Amino acid sequence: MSLEKQQAQELIDFIDRSPSTYHAVNNVREELIEGGFQELDLRDEWTINKGGKYFTGKNGSAIFAFTIGEGEIEEEGFQLVCAHSDAPGFKIKPNPEIEVEGNYIKLNTEVYGAPILSTWMDRPLSIAGRVCVQSNDPLNPEHLYVKIDRPLMVIPNLAIHLNREVNEGVALNKQKDMLPLLSMITDEMEKENCLINLIAEELKINAQSIVDFDVTLFEVEKGNIFGLNEEFISSPKLDDLAMAHAGLKALLDSKGTKKTQMLAIFDNEEVGSVTKQGAGSPVLRHLLQRIVYKLGKNMEEFQRAIYNSFMISADMAHAVHPNISEKHDPTNRPVINKGPVIKIHANNKYTTDGDSGTVFETLCKNAEVPYQKFVNRSDLVGGSTLGNVSTGQVDIRTVDIGNPMFAMHSVRETGGVKDNAYIRQVFSYFFSL
Ligand SMILES: [Zn+2]
Repeated sequence: MSLEKQQAQELIDFIDRSPSTYHAVNNVREELIEGGFQELDLRDEWTINKGGKYFTGKNGSAIFAFTIGEGEIEEEGFQLVCAHSDAPGFKIKPNPEIEVEGNYIKLNTEVYGAPILSTWMDRPLSIAGRVCVQSNDPLNPEHLYVKIDRPLMVIPNLAIHLNREVNEGVALNKQKDMLPLLSMITDEMEKENCLINLIAEELKINAQSIVDFDVTLFEVEKGNIFGLNEEFISSPKLDDLAMAHAGLKALLDSKGTKKTQMLAIFDNEEVGSVTKQGAGSPVLRHLLQRIVYKLGKNMEEFQRAIYNSFMISADMAHAVHPNISEKHDPTNRPVINKGPVIKIHANNKYTTDGDSGTVFETLCKNAEVPYQKFVNRSDLVGGSTLGNVSTGQVDIRTVDIGNPMFAMHSVRETGGVKDNAYIRQVFSYFFSL
């Protein structure tokens, strides 16, 4: 198998093990531990040393890994790659069981972020996330992870015979049309506690001990490589686990330099980042400050470190669609497998400017990787991402980039095998400076 195909398969396997933000972050955590990184708890006192490898987490769904540079931090600064752990989908509501026609049980859910709703229909779905269990300390419940590895639910479409206009486009109601069917009602079942009982059985714990949960739906079918020459990746959550995974691999492969390298994976980008584990919180600023102070430096040295730093805000980008190419800018037309995309926005929804864009172009050139540029059509609004939000908390020079893909926010997205290898190469080069 070629190296790029092998790397694409690594990404697919990683995403398959990461059906919730909690699982994604825990998988990153396990790879870091295996790679010799030491875990630090935000609540403890830290000892950190030059050349040391560390990581810390926030609320189970954000993680920050860093290798302390051998140089003086106020002169060398931080080299940051940022990505996000979350993806749009459905969160299970409390008391979710709904009885239908005296025969079926479906689950009540709430939409998270902006999924393409229709893509979630008629697919085998299951549940994954975090379960909180009462402990002896009222302020610190125990957290358990649940991931049920079998098809449990489907959100069925309405037959075309009952809606002849279905192919003209259907408005899907989030509360009515998108609820997944879980079960037939049986005499033995406790209808109002189906979900809790299922989770308790899976975790082999007492159902009464489960107090609360953060559990989401996921598509059960694993991603794959497709195309005549196996050039594409089809997988859930490429946005943004593809960037998180590439950043992780590059950090793990790095031999360390004078500069302090960091991978920051935030949660909640899909809902605006303003949560305690999101890029809109002070978590990153606090962390950078703590590292500088722990190295025996003062406030001025912290600020010098910040102004000697550079951040790559890595979030996926749009490739020109093979069927609907008119939605793209006339002169900037990224395609899949032609390299990472630099995102540019005149009104600064992206952090890229001439300066930071030039830095990223130079990184690509030196890493011998092609690159492309993305600008919205001037009559389209487009999306936003991490870079900007993070800059509001800590003003580091930043560029917004990402790999080109189709169907962003579909339950299953399409990316490129080559692009995955390219971005790993660029991140590795960045972490070698
Ligand atoms: Zn994203």
